[in-house]
Amino acid sequence: VAAMSNEPNTPPLRAQDVGVWIFDLDNTLYPPTSDLFPRVAERMTAFIMREYGLDEDGSHKLRRDLFLKYGTTLRGLMLERDLDPKQFLDDVHNIDLSDVDPNPRLNDLITALPGRKLIFTNGSVGHASRIMAKLGIDHHFETVFDIVASDYIPKPDPGPYQVLIQQHGIDPTHAVMIEDMAKNLVPAHAMGMTTVWLRNHRDWAIDGSTGDHIHHSIDHLEDWLETVVNG
Ligand SMILES: [Mg+2]
Repeated sequence: VAAMSNEPNTPPLRAQDVGVWIFDLDNTLYPPTSDLFPRVAERMTAFIMREYGLDEDGSHKLRRDLFLKYGTTLRGLMLERDLDPKQFLDDVHNIDLSDVDPNPRLNDLITALPGRKLIFTNGSVGHASRIMAKLGIDHHFETVFDIVASDYIPKPDPGPYQVLIQQHGIDPTHAVMIEDMAKNLVPAHAMGMTTVWLRNHRDWAIDGSTGDHIHHSIDHLEDWLETVVNG
């Protein structure tokens, strides 16, 4: 599989044409092989077991069902189970990051990108900040627009995308959004952003990966950024 590809009729992206870079966090700024998101999922399952008195199988099933139905397990628990979101976010993101190493190559490539850089995540500021600090890339980003800033309404609901661009004065026609969950690029495209799908072959990530809302499909973030920076 090629390291990068442009969809038919999509010219290669030129870094100098981009005003704002909007990065997803989980499974985008680090690869799925880092195995960090399953650690969050495991803590969610344990939280649901404790909080709602379910066994492990029941908790796992509820977590996954709510994730697929509402976009985040958090949203589902808030709507169906009257959850306190703050307590949940603090607990489930308290994962071990001791094996996350700095990524100097990614740091250099982000440094070389002109323009503003932001994070847009369905996770929390605390989670994003801890991971970015471990990767050594936290100093690049002017803000982490998280699930609290999104009023707990996750991507791909168009609502938080609108709040993001209004609050941060972003012209979507000069913005690029990079994401591993393909369906999260639908609202970005509708607003005029250039979209980049970092291929992730899990069922929930590949959902919505065909269609003209995907401008660029890539297999490796750093390899692709290198072509953009050197292009
Ligand atoms: Mg992601």
